[in-house]
Amino acid sequence: MDEIYDVIIVGAGASGLICALECARDGLEVLVLEKDPQPARKVLVSGNGRCNLTNRNVSPTYYYTDPALIEKTLAQFSFQKCWDYFTDLGVLLTEEAQGRVFPASGKSTAITEALKTALKEHEVDIRYATQVTHIRTAAAQFIITTQQKDVFRAHHVVLACGSYAYPQVTGTQAGYQLAQSLGHTLIPPHPVLSGMCLKERALTRLSGIKCQVRTTAKTTPPTCAEGELIFTNYGINGPAVLNISHAVSCALENGPVPVEINFFPQLENPEKFFQQRLAKFGNRKPKDFFTGLLNEGIINLLIDFKGLKKNAPINTQDTQRIFATLTAWPVTVTAMRPWQEAMAAAGGVKVSEINYNTFESRLHPGLFVTGELLDVDGKSGGFNLHFAWASGYIAAQTIKEN
Ligand SMILES: Cc1cc2nc3c(=O)[nH]c(=O)nc-3n(C[C@H](O)[C@H](O)[C@H](O)COP(=O)(O)OP(=O)(O)OC[C@H]3O[C@@H](n4cnc5c(N)ncnc54)[C@H](O)[C@@H]3O)c2cc1C
Repeated sequence: MDEIYDVIIVGAGASGLICALECARDGLEVLVLEKDPQPARKVLVSGNGRCNLTNRNVSPTYYYTDPALIEKTLAQFSFQKCWDYFTDLGVLLTEEAQGRVFPASGKSTAITEALKTALKEHEVDIRYATQVTHIRTAAAQFIITTQQKDVFRAHHVVLACGSYAYPQVTGTQAGYQLAQSLGHTLIPPHPVLSGMCLKERALTRLSGIKCQVRTTAKTTPPTCAEGELIFTNYGINGPAVLNISHAVSCALENGPVPVEINFFPQLENPEKFFQQRLAKFGNRKPKDFFTGLLNEGIINLLIDFKGLKKNAPINTQDTQRIFATLTAWPVTVTAMRPWQEAMAAAGGVKVSEINYNTFESRLHPGLFVTGELLDVDGKSGGFNLHFAWASGYIAAQTIKEN
């Protein structure tokens, strides 16, 4: 317990590793404490093992938090900065649809190995299987105790513990507890970026069907997303569901949440389209009338539920009702899928208790809180990792200056 580190970083995840590397590059004595036997496991599983590490379009609109925090964060660590940072670490990157960026190798290990190699080159001390259980302040120092009963001292501490999401892969409440023990306020965490359970059990019949839709959560204000939706044996999942999950997860506090699914988001004037189709195919049987418009399973379900005669030519009014349903199909979300399936958490350490320019705690000079442990969550598309890198990087710049 004799050595006093310049900085101890709790958590070898996305924000902790970049923070450690930046501090070490400036010659600081850095110690990283990680409860797992290996670093950055969430980064490894991110993007289906491909790691969608940032997004060209990153801006406050993709985050749920105070926009001023994201503005200040991006002013110091922009998309280009992130791209250059990993390129300088030796990773070849590639940009895909909607500005999403991945390592060109198609493997998240490109990112984790690049970080590990750079950390090794700077001889950063990372202790694995070491869980921090207590942090206290004493005479401008932090005294850190681990589950293994080790005690460490440091001038600066970075809480980079991540959120409770995906507990089977490092997700933990430990960071919340450490922050609270130091006087920080916790905004109750909710699972986000996960599938949703529906009241309408009949829809399980559609399990496995994928379609391009627009979803609208009837929250205040309503929240929309466009993209792929996948029917599952519990309800719905896919990008068009993930990107309304923040609003739905928060609204579920007050009971089930209505959501509408529009199966024809590409139609500017659905009514006109329907009339034209009716003029052309009005003599067809119901199923044939809808064939070519959307998945057969969905058509069959609707025909059954609306009680349409399968072998007679369509009844214009019934067909109109079905078409109207298809542009605003009402479903009811009763629950989010459990934390084990959530890719992120809404809620976390209250952001007004940290300095937006530095990520330093306003309660304890020398203490920093970064990444998903904060009450910041982004939409699907690389925004959560961008924030984790950015906050870890920015915290390091302040630590280096002190
Ligand atoms: C399945 C999945 C897919 C994802 N895909 C993407 C994606 O493609 N793009 C994207 O932007 N985001 C993605 N995310 C989210 C992204 O991985 C996280 O937002 C990001 O890793 C958060 O970084 P962090 O540094 O805050 O925390 P983490 O990366 O979670 O790291 C926290 C670390 O702290 C350690 N720790 C916690 N408490 C303690 C303690 N008390 N003592 C010691 N160590 C501790 C943990 O073991 C962990 O290693 C995904 C998440 C999941 C679960």
